[in-house]
Amino acid sequence: MTTATLYIIATPIGNLEDMTYRAVRILGEVDLIAAEDTRHSLKLLNHFGISKPLTSYFDHNQQIKGERILNALRQGKSVALISDAGTPCVSDPGYQLVRDAVAENIPVVPVPGACAAITALSASGLPTDTFTFAGFPPSRQGKRRTFLTGMSTLPGTLVLYESPHRLLETLNDICEVLGERQVIVARELTKVYEECIRGTVTEVIASVSKGIVRGEVVILIAPGETTLQENEPLEKALERLMADGTISIKDVAKQAAVISGVSRSDAYQEALRLKNDPDRA
Ligand code: SAM
Repeated sequence: MTTATLYIIATPIGNLEDMTYRAVRILGEVDLIAAEDTRHSLKLLNHFGISKPLTSYFDHNQQIKGERILNALRQGKSVALISDAGTPCVSDPGYQLVRDAVAENIPVVPVPGACAAITALSASGLPTDTFTFAGFPPSRQGKRRTFLTGMSTLPGTLVLYESPHRLLETLNDICEVLGERQVIVARELTKVYEECIRGTVTEVIASVSKGIVRGEVVILIAPGETTLQENEPLEKALERLMADGTISIKDVAKQAAVISGVSRSDAYQEALRLKNDPDRA
């Protein structure tokens, strides 16, 4: 395959049967495969009998490797980007490479497949019409609580990635900041020890506290009561969010825009007007 194209290829999040036929075919056809961890990906590629030049592309070499990958693309080569598991660019390296390729009019082709967030959401039984995927919460408690506060009035289900050794701390903060919501910890999805721990956040904390949680986890949080005020008039939504006092005007506007179905810039202008309104104090 010699047309300059960047393929963004999803790989399994555990179960190798989740590799798609298309992913196998394209990985076998490209000129170069850029992988987050070449040793890790080699096992996957060997399993599917794929033998292609491999190069690394991870968080700390993105700039220099990104330029080399772009050079290969400029020379008309086809490149596939894969990460250790799931969909590249989703809490994984890649978006800068995609952005730069797009800026140079290099075709970018997504090859969909597994993604832990979507896999967990699909089996959660929580509302899926609106959801927010927020990646990994900050590891420090203070920042994590601020992060959760910013999500407290978002509509829909919240989806987070977390490492197993921070799971309990994060669940405790969820309980503290977001209150007693329904929570699901989806663990080891598609693997032998797959399980979904469901219940109120207090129940899930009790269950998780019984032993050591191993493996990979996704946390899903049901919408809170305050987030269910769909189509709330803009001014009312802004007043309510601003009364919280902990959310920045920018975030207030962002959330109010979603709730009230207006543009972010309109919500921001209105938030500034209300903030500076002398009658409001
Ligand atoms: N790009 C990947 C995707 O599309 O899902 C995510 C990569 S991110 C670095 C890794 C995190 O995804 C893990 O810490 C965990 O939160 C989640 N994850 C990945 N595989 C998982 C699995 N099999 N079960 C549960 N969570 C998983």
